[in-house]
Amino acid sequence: MNVTHLECALCGLRHEANTLQNLCITCGKPLLVRYDLEKAAETLTPESLKTRESDLWRYREVLPVVDEANIVSLGEGMTPLFKTDRLAATLPIKVDLYIKDEGQNPTQSFKARGMTAAISMAKELGVTKLAVPSAGNAAGALAAYAVLAGMEANIFMPADTPRANIVECQQTGANVTLIDGLITDCGKIVAERKDEMGWFDVSTLKEPYRVEGKKTMGYELYEQFRDMRHETEGKSDEDSVSRLSSPVSRLLPDVILYPTGGGTGLIGMWKAFDEMEQMGWIGSERPRMVSVQSETCAPIVRAFHAGERFADEFENASTVASGLRVPKCIGDFLILDAIRASNGTAVTVTDAELTAAVAEIGALTGIFTAPEGAACLPALRKLIADGLVNEGDSVVIFNTGSGIKYLEAFEDQ
Ligand SMILES: *Cc1c(COP(=O)(O)O)cnc(C)c1O
Repeated sequence: MNVTHLECALCGLRHEANTLQNLCITCGKPLLVRYDLEKAAETLTPESLKTRESDLWRYREVLPVVDEANIVSLGEGMTPLFKTDRLAATLPIKVDLYIKDEGQNPTQSFKARGMTAAISMAKELGVTKLAVPSAGNAAGALAAYAVLAGMEANIFMPADTPRANIVECQQTGANVTLIDGLITDCGKIVAERKDEMGWFDVSTLKEPYRVEGKKTMGYELYEQFRDMRHETEGKSDEDSVSRLSSPVSRLLPDVILYPTGGGTGLIGMWKAFDEMEQMGWIGSERPRMVSVQSETCAPIVRAFHAGERFADEFENASTVASGLRVPKCIGDFLILDAIRASNGTAVTVTDAELTAAVAEIGALTGIFTAPEGAACLPALRKLIADGLVNEGDSVVIFNTGSGIKYLEAFEDQ
């Protein structure tokens, strides 16, 4: 157990580890977990990972939880990274294109990563009742992990949440309340009622541990790129020479496209890269982080191009990509800081573009992507058109969930 303390992501105030906390007690911003990374690096080495279990708890030195008996797991993480040459061939320039398929997580989305960490810590800290506002997949994951931990799950979702998300929560024993409004309205209800009801609020970034689970995507990219690097190094001289002369970075991809709602995964991966550098795994190089949002709910894209550090609430937010329907998020400055520090950018696509991309990706890769993940493909085409992704770049698009949860989105097709 290497956690030293929690730290406010904005003002830096130090908070005790191992007590139940939501936000910074002075400025109300997210708390991030800090570790003794020197100690972690003694046993967590790239070499040591080769023989570990194939879920995200393989990185346990840089995850919270003191007593391993408190870990609540359904086998999340270590999702495949597919190199997809057929999809890449539809692009106007040659890039190495990869899809990280998070739809293969338990409950069919990467929300499982955050919830395994958050619910394990809630168990360790004695929580019995949980509450969450959710645009969909967070609810399904919370319901599953709460059952496993023997806790009560209270879920507030917009009434127009994809039906699969509502049904899965009901079928896994959660208390589900549908709200005529957006996820931000659901969040207000949780905030109002939680003290009286004795609920612990597991809204993303309003508790410190979901981001810890999601950061493991950054560690996995490092491991998976390393393995592919070794494969290509083992091939003929000619092949490795052409590889070495290409500008593809050796340790991490050049570009990461991330469909952004609350931004937890992007913030988490950025934190993971920082930890890996401190442990001596990588240098100061970073992938260019690209936030992808829907044109009809794009607070981060708007703030990025306006040069703002915080993002105003996006009015009348709507999009079929329900995970992206987050008009205001508490980690806005962390997303925007990471995009800028990485020399990345933020881009919108339309709902028509992202829905069409589901079928295009499906027909070329066999992956039935969530509309959120599919949004990365039209976004990539825009980046190429604008000269922001170049010939020879290695590009990872995150398919953050499975299309199977969004059948309504394909009804008129
Ligand atoms: C929650 C969700 C997102 C957004 O994730 P954040 O890390 O909160 O930005 C994207 N896609 C899907 C499928 C989701 O469920």
